[in-house]
Amino acid sequence: MEYQTILEHIYQEIQPLAKEGKQADYIPALAKVNPDQFGLCLRLMKGKVYELGAADVRFSIQSISKVFSLAMTLSLKGEALWDRVGVEPSGSAFNSLVQLEYEHGKPRNPFINAGAIVTSDILLSHYGREQAETVFLEFVRALCGNNDICYNPEVAESEQSTGYLNASIAYLLKYHHNIENDIHDVLHLYFMMCSVEMNCRELSQAFLAFARSNAPFNHGGIELTMSQVKRINAIMQTCGFYDEAGEFSFKVGLPGKSGVGGGIVALYPSRYAITVWSPRLNEKGNSILGMKALELFTTETSESIF
Ligand code: GLU
Repeated sequence: MEYQTILEHIYQEIQPLAKEGKQADYIPALAKVNPDQFGLCLRLMKGKVYELGAADVRFSIQSISKVFSLAMTLSLKGEALWDRVGVEPSGSAFNSLVQLEYEHGKPRNPFINAGAIVTSDILLSHYGREQAETVFLEFVRALCGNNDICYNPEVAESEQSTGYLNASIAYLLKYHHNIENDIHDVLHLYFMMCSVEMNCRELSQAFLAFARSNAPFNHGGIELTMSQVKRINAIMQTCGFYDEAGEFSFKVGLPGKSGVGGGIVALYPSRYAITVWSPRLNEKGNSILGMKALELFTTETSESIF
């Protein structure tokens, strides 16, 4: 298939949307990002790589980090993880408190903020304060074979200083005994994980590990069975896009995960991983150009899982 030609065609097709939406500004450090950037990287399981635009520019991965923390906690806890966090789509905003209150402190899934605050707590209990940050970063570095991937403490600090909703979520979780550690330590780890910076090339490489369905997963000391990887993909399919997960499934037809830094990662098991980045977001917090580019990609290549 002529992937490069298709990608270049898609790039032209999305141009009418190029000025729609704006970058996340509730995290002050993200408001400074130039919104008019676009990158894409498609990595085929067979090894070929196709790129567009700023595929090598790093950005804040934000909620894409929730897939990595889920992988780590599932590896540590196995089935017991589901006692503390569910696997149902939330149908509400990523930082919503409402559902958490009436469901007595058990987050719907690991990809909304409440769920990822719980997985942060699990990592903290297991590794301790300093080690948790180190082990998480080592895992991400191992996934993409690049040792200079780092946290951005300025972004983490910026989010911590304005993260009132996330703090409220953490307090509510603690009230319901679903947080074991000190709330500030849990939030610090959560914000640090969100602050990791990667580019489209690195993210596509990292997510190929989740697309590989014929061998057990073993990266940076984190081991998962094939069945566990399949389940992570299932949660990406049903919960990866906040309250737009249905829309993404409907239009793109791939498991994936977005972040408010404007990145979207999607994968086709056994075939490819694709990452798109563009900071302008829609009102649900998903990249407008990213969503459209992926919709066009699976339509024009006829390569979606459905
Ligand atoms: N750090 C962001 C927050 O907690 C992540 C949100 C996202 O990317 O969806 O609000």
